[in-house]
Amino acid sequence: MKVHAYAAFEKGSELKPFEYDLSDPHANEVQIKIHYCGICHSDLHLLDGDWDNDNWPLVPGHEIVGEIVQVGDQVKRFTNGQIVGLGWQKDSCTMCNSCRVGKENLCSEMISTCVNGFGGFGEYINANERFVVPISQKENLEKIAPLLCGGVTVYNPLEYYNVRPYMHVGVVGLGGLGHMAVQFADRMGCEVTVFSSSPDKEKEALSLGADKFVAGNISEDYYDYFDFILVSATANLDWDMYLNLLQAEGKLCFVGAPSENISVDVFNLIPKQKMLCAGSIGSPLMIEQMMEFSRRQNIGAQVEVFDLKDVNEAIEKLRKNELRYRAVLKMRNDV
Ligand code: NAP
Ligand code: ZN
Repeated sequence: MKVHAYAAFEKGSELKPFEYDLSDPHANEVQIKIHYCGICHSDLHLLDGDWDNDNWPLVPGHEIVGEIVQVGDQVKRFTNGQIVGLGWQKDSCTMCNSCRVGKENLCSEMISTCVNGFGGFGEYINANERFVVPISQKENLEKIAPLLCGGVTVYNPLEYYNVRPYMHVGVVGLGGLGHMAVQFADRMGCEVTVFSSSPDKEKEALSLGADKFVAGNISEDYYDYFDFILVSATANLDWDMYLNLLQAEGKLCFVGAPSENISVDVFNLIPKQKMLCAGSIGSPLMIEQMMEFSRRQNIGAQVEVFDLKDVNEAIEKLRKNELRYRAVLKMRNDV
């Protein structure tokens, strides 16, 4: 089948219409007709070649919501017509210890939706059913698409590092990931403080569920205050300053990927046994759990919807930090 998509043909270039052949799904795969695809900053890192990727033509896109149109012979969980989602990962080795304990997101043979194949900025995609999640909602699917990568990426560390309702949580950067992190941490019962470089985001941060908003100088009241600070910013900031905001045994957790190496003074870690840590997307099961939590708590992305043909405009807004808060591409007119 011919798939119409948008691709970049070299590092830093604009996306242009691109056609390619897609096979029928393999035995364990489903074929998804894509309705919406979010634009994650990781797509922009790939387009800019920030991660030394060399996969041109590049069809980005890994926050996919759509409808199953074909299933492989051995597919057990899905049937045609079902609404499903697919995130950053579309396959793994399935045999390593991480895969066997259900942490497929930590598999060293991760197959990424838009690195090891053409991604979601197109009409159709095939994926291993193990990495596809059912979606029970029928409406507002554009608000759900960003949960598939951005959502689980911020939900996973809150779960994995055992963030509890009584804790003080900081979120650095109120972008696509950050604005979902605020909602999750707030609905989990935490006190949430946003650290932002954009003073105009204060009102929305508070309406998303933040208790406090800091843009600019950080008051000394916040020293020794936080249990967990989640970094979703793309910039390399003063991490020693953020370590000073943590209580003893607090964690500074990176999900955002600044392009340069980060640096900290080890003596900001040692005396109070503070921790630097990170999160990498989430397993398929965690995506399902996160979707269920989001459905019950009415969590979704605040989105700006663009037609696929306007993808370059959406990417420019992302680059300039002008989105509020996630761009989502609408792939077809009949949804
Ligand atoms: P985004 O929508 O562009 O948000 C990033 C936010 O970072 C911006 O909205 C901005 O928030 C803040 N920021 C940007 N420039 C800044 C500066 N100079 N100083 C301080 N803050 C600045 O990006 P995203 O889609 O949320 O993705 C964020 C990062 O997470 C990316 O690096 C992406 O690759 C990474 N990511 C990682 C994983 C994973 O598995 N670990 C998964 C998905 C994405 P303010 O305006 O509030 O300052
Ligand atoms: Zn992503």
